[in-house]
Amino acid sequence: APPATTPMEDCCVKVAVHIRPLIGDEKLQACKDCVAVVPGKPQVQLGTHSFTFDHVYGSTGSPSSSMFEECVSPLVDGLLQGYNATVLAYGQTGSGKTYTMGTGFKDGYQAGLIPQAMSALFNKVGSLQHQIEFQLHVSFIEILKEEVRDLLDPNSSNKSEITNGQTGKVNSPGKPPIQIRETSSGVITLAGSTECSVKTLKEMTDCLEHGSLSRATGSTNMNNQSSRSHAIFTITLEQMRKPNSNIPGDGNSNDSTCDEYLCAKLHLVDLAGSERAKRTGSDGMRFKEGVHINKGLLALGNVISALGDEKKRKEGAHVPYRDSKLTRLLQDSLGGNSRTVMIACVSPADINAEETLNTLKYANRAR
Ligand code: ADP
Ligand code: MG
Repeated sequence: APPATTPMEDCCVKVAVHIRPLIGDEKLQACKDCVAVVPGKPQVQLGTHSFTFDHVYGSTGSPSSSMFEECVSPLVDGLLQGYNATVLAYGQTGSGKTYTMGTGFKDGYQAGLIPQAMSALFNKVGSLQHQIEFQLHVSFIEILKEEVRDLLDPNSSNKSEITNGQTGKVNSPGKPPIQIRETSSGVITLAGSTECSVKTLKEMTDCLEHGSLSRATGSTNMNNQSSRSHAIFTITLEQMRKPNSNIPGDGNSNDSTCDEYLCAKLHLVDLAGSERAKRTGSDGMRFKEGVHINKGLLALGNVISALGDEKKRKEGAHVPYRDSKLTRLLQDSLGGNSRTVMIACVSPADINAEETLNTLKYANRAR
């Protein structure tokens, strides 16, 4: 079990905003930049609205290079101390979620949070290897229409299959669906998903790349499925500490006489696009998907705002984890002893002002 004292400050959810620059399409349409950052403050203004967050990254705010250090690096440290953590990228399609997380494997993905988290983790593991035995696993899944799909399944077909006018990669034939389960001690497991054991940064990077490509393969033709699914890359770190190993800064390993086992996971989540169902078309099929996606994002918003409400938390108020697959899967890594960072991604373009405002409101509610 993780140590009883948490290294965290009072609030378990931190919220950052990442404003990307205007991109080609927006420049072609002569869009204006409508999101202003208040100099020296983590504050954004959109029209008459003003919001304050834990951090703001953008062209005129602090550079996004400090995003990893400020938002994710402490979670990697926590992982080594046995704390679960979740990083969520939220925002409308095209706002920079995949770019921010680094799940895209195109322009500049190495600067994404996942590749940076992986190399920071391997640096730390490498420096402690002589005193601690480590085991690392990764899984990479996607939730689409409340169904869990394994992005690392070595046997899944790469052919697209047409179902109800939908294209998409399917799980291996005959393979039982992936199920989210909870152990008696409250640990959430994904029964039936591929858990890749990795020993090197290269192997972990290969998993990220393989899964990212697998996700992209599923999003062919008319619908971009990846904008409507949640992609969850999970790193699980197990460690066996030898007795009397004195790990600097961890403060609880002095008088233990037996091996200490720690297991923690870090979820890195590229969420579905937050745009409203009405914007994704009006035919029945797509609407249903919109509803499902909203189910995950809606449940996530409710869970996070319940966790952020200290008064409610102390009263032991109900946190609605069971309302969606997404929140169910993240249950043991949101709240409790775990740390959560939400990165709200926004476009600065005036044509996106309405969705940007929705994103800022959602993120504001999470604080
Ligand atoms: P999403 O995953 O939210 O749909 P993407 O990450 O695919 O959005 O970003 C949309 C486009 O904007 C991509 O072409 C991407 O390369 C570009 N982009 C996103 N964020 C940035 C950034 N911070 N700097 C430069 N280009 C970016
Ligand atoms: Mg994306």
